[in-house]
Amino acid sequence: MAIDQNAGIALLDLTYSELEELLVSLGEPSYRADQLYGWLYRSLASRFHDMLNLPLSLREKLEDVAILRLLTPMEEVTSDSGLARKVLFALRDGETIESVLLLYEDRQSVCVSTQVGCPVGCGFCATGQSGFVRNLSPGEIVEQVLFFARELKERDMEVTNVVFMGMGEPLLNYEATWRAVETLNDPRGFDLGARRMTISTVGVVPGIDRLSKEPLQVGLAVSLHAPTDRLRRKLVPIARRYPMGELMAACRRYVERTGRRITFEYALLQGINDSLEQATLLADLLSGLLCHVNLIPLNPTADSPWEPSSPDQVRAFHRELRRRGINSTIRLRRGIVIEAGCGQLRSRRPATETEAGS
Ligand code: SAH
Ligand code: SF4
Repeated sequence: MAIDQNAGIALLDLTYSELEELLVSLGEPSYRADQLYGWLYRSLASRFHDMLNLPLSLREKLEDVAILRLLTPMEEVTSDSGLARKVLFALRDGETIESVLLLYEDRQSVCVSTQVGCPVGCGFCATGQSGFVRNLSPGEIVEQVLFFARELKERDMEVTNVVFMGMGEPLLNYEATWRAVETLNDPRGFDLGARRMTISTVGVVPGIDRLSKEPLQVGLAVSLHAPTDRLRRKLVPIARRYPMGELMAACRRYVERTGRRITFEYALLQGINDSLEQATLLADLLSGLLCHVNLIPLNPTADSPWEPSSPDQVRAFHRELRRRGINSTIRLRRGIVIEAGCGQLRSRRPATETEAGS
């Protein structure tokens, strides 16, 4: 398939009022916006052809000026008997991103990417090690969710949760991420409750402050990974720009302003950040803060110098946190077999290969 680089208006990038403006500029009454928005986000149409209550002339006009699909599925891997499914998508410029669908007993969660690669460069993360290419547009983020929603619909199911925990750092692509949140939340369309969305950040302080002032009650996860600044700087390079003291102050402000609990993600690396002494330091750091800690044994990447902590050590770390009054859960990552970690499928496959194969 030749990737069409011709610019057209990507409908999924538009807000409701921009869609309205577009239709008016095409000589249509503004109520058509509600119909088109409904096709995009309620009926989950993927072709103009299917939008039967739009006049044929409008559907033809839209074919000429607008683009409906920004993602092309290229490859997919499933694990846990189909309960975790990762899809590699090609974007219109040939770049690739990954998204994961995770099926649980009570919910269907989509993990979306917000950037191609990531500028932060954490040493344990496949995405971070692959460098940074570009930000995703709002539509490219939203369509990852629509893709799985379309599939689930065939089985009479729907996407119940969206986590911004795929490739990239959402708060370094704030505008597009937030627009995607608003689009997914819009009751005229996809209508996903804000509380059903979680943004995961490596600790971009200005972004956390900005989030704390947003009206929508989206969840926040902060990838901490270390109880001290010194160690954190080794694992998470951006800690040099936003040191621990500033990060924790921002987290406290966030909880004060929103009244919402923060989830701290802590990947356990054998012999690096998993000692009981470090558990104690972590408990002191988080003491008195409305929060929850997710302990995640490292999912080792191809060239990782680090190993995951042993199950015994993970349990001991967990016990120590609880003993000191910190809520925590051991998260055995679903989809470990499919490398649902982050950017691992893409990193096995160079972009040139994707282009050649597309
Ligand atoms: N950039 C954001 C969101 C994407 S990463 C962030 O860092 O929070 C999503 C989560 O996956 C983060 O908590 C990250 O630390 C974790 N992660 C990345 N690579 C991992 C690996 N190899 N093993 C375990 N967790 C990993
Ligand atoms: Fe970027 Fe998050 Fe990976 Fe760090 S863990 S490199 S911030 S995607």
